[in-house]
Amino acid sequence: MKTIYEVVIGLEIHAQMSTKTKMFCRCDNDSFNKEPNINTCEICMGFPGTLPCINKEAVKKAVIAALALHCVIPEHSKFDRKNYFYPDLPKGFQISQYDVPVSLKGWIEIEMKEGIKKIGITRLHMEDDAGKLTHAPGGTLCDYNRSGTPLMEIVSEPDMHSSEEAVAYAKEIQKILRYVGSSECDMEKGMMRFDINISIRPKGIKEFGIKVEVKNLNSFRSLERAIEYEIKRQTEAVECGERIIQETRGWDDIKGVTESQRTKEEAQDYRYFPEPDLPPLIQKNEEIEMYKKNIPELPRAKKKRYEQEFKLSDEEARILTEELDRALFFEHAATISKDPKKTAQFMNSMLLGHLNEKHQSLGECKISPENLGKLILLINNGKISHNLAKGKIFTAMFETGMSAEEIMEEKGLEELSDKGALENLAKKIIAENPKIVEQYKNGKTTVIGFFVGQMMQKTKGAANPKMVQDILKELLGAET
Ligand code: ADP
Ligand code: MG
Ligand code: ZN
Repeated sequence: MKTIYEVVIGLEIHAQMSTKTKMFCRCDNDSFNKEPNINTCEICMGFPGTLPCINKEAVKKAVIAALALHCVIPEHSKFDRKNYFYPDLPKGFQISQYDVPVSLKGWIEIEMKEGIKKIGITRLHMEDDAGKLTHAPGGTLCDYNRSGTPLMEIVSEPDMHSSEEAVAYAKEIQKILRYVGSSECDMEKGMMRFDINISIRPKGIKEFGIKVEVKNLNSFRSLERAIEYEIKRQTEAVECGERIIQETRGWDDIKGVTESQRTKEEAQDYRYFPEPDLPPLIQKNEEIEMYKKNIPELPRAKKKRYEQEFKLSDEEARILTEELDRALFFEHAATISKDPKKTAQFMNSMLLGHLNEKHQSLGECKISPENLGKLILLINNGKISHNLAKGKIFTAMFETGMSAEEIMEEKGLEELSDKGALENLAKKIIAENPKIVEQYKNGKTTVIGFFVGQMMQKTKGAANPKMVQDILKELLGAET
């Protein structure tokens, strides 16, 4: 019988913290588009005799992220030196946390087709980033702007069993870190990177297989592809009677393969020891309690609430909770419209659709949550038709940021939703079309559609269709 293999995956995620300055010095933490090597100082360049100083904001952001991942925060933790020599590391060591990290033992939930799955988090710790090397034809270029950037490393338990689960986990972590403001997790700027630990074992066997580590993936797509590749490679190797060796591999995005970089025998001894230049870290209970209170409702809880409380579909709730500012915009608009379902639909189809088309973010949107809420209120009160709201009015709101009422006034659309005005118009159209009125009288009541069409055309879609129907039925009925 053919053996069926199960894949076991654990992820290590590096996320750059969104602090003002670097981890242990006062250099700007934003090096995006900056000239190489200008965003450095004696400390992050590792000059002898300089002393690091712990960035308080970074510790706060790490602790908040850890709390959002349900981690335990021990009272004491410390920094350690991880020694290795490489041109991207001017100090000759990285400052990380080894045996006593700032947090441990957390978990998050991911939503899979088969249901909710809990993924364990071993630890979240802080460290500083290395510089960046660019291998050019003439030699290697070193840029130390990134050197000393504050990172969180989030290590998962080996709880994932497919590329889908690993990607869902990574996306959920990204969402949570963004919600709590600990990292922007902008993958295009290298703010979030993944290392995959992956092994296979015959299904049903408890012991883990030998793991392979694939380092430095920088997109969800490459994360997925590298896992799929490794599953295939390891399964084929085992089926051929080969033994998997513990090694570190790299992902070649162009070739679509992983390639061996070093085996366990060649693994470095980092000679970890406590960082002598930094004091131990102490997390006070009161402070942790205060952070906890300030953590916003997290994406999964929000999504569940939207589904239950507002009767939103899975998809509607998922889109709205993708980002915190989006969710808050929706919640604000919905309190004004008092119709969360319609607000959700309007936001997802119209607002996000328009923003997408214009490549704009919600932050750049001219429509305020109040005005979106009021627009829906006007529809629900029968003041404007759905079509008009979706058409002219929305477009004008989107372009100018004006409220629906201001636009209606400016464009003279208001009176068209007025019953008296619509009646006058209906009377005029009826008077102009005696032949069709005749047909109606003779029992061909479907011709009412002609009159509705005329009304909508004359009002440029401004009339409330329900009102038009009612008025026409009444007037035509009186003719017979
Ligand atoms: P290392 O000391 O090599 O860094 P760790 O035990 O710290 O190894 O684990 C690192 C990561 O590898 C964690 O995310 C963990 O869940 C995962 N991991 C550990 N053993 C396995 C395995 N056999 N298969 C897949 N992933 C594993
Ligand atoms: Mg590791
Ligand atoms: Zn510096």
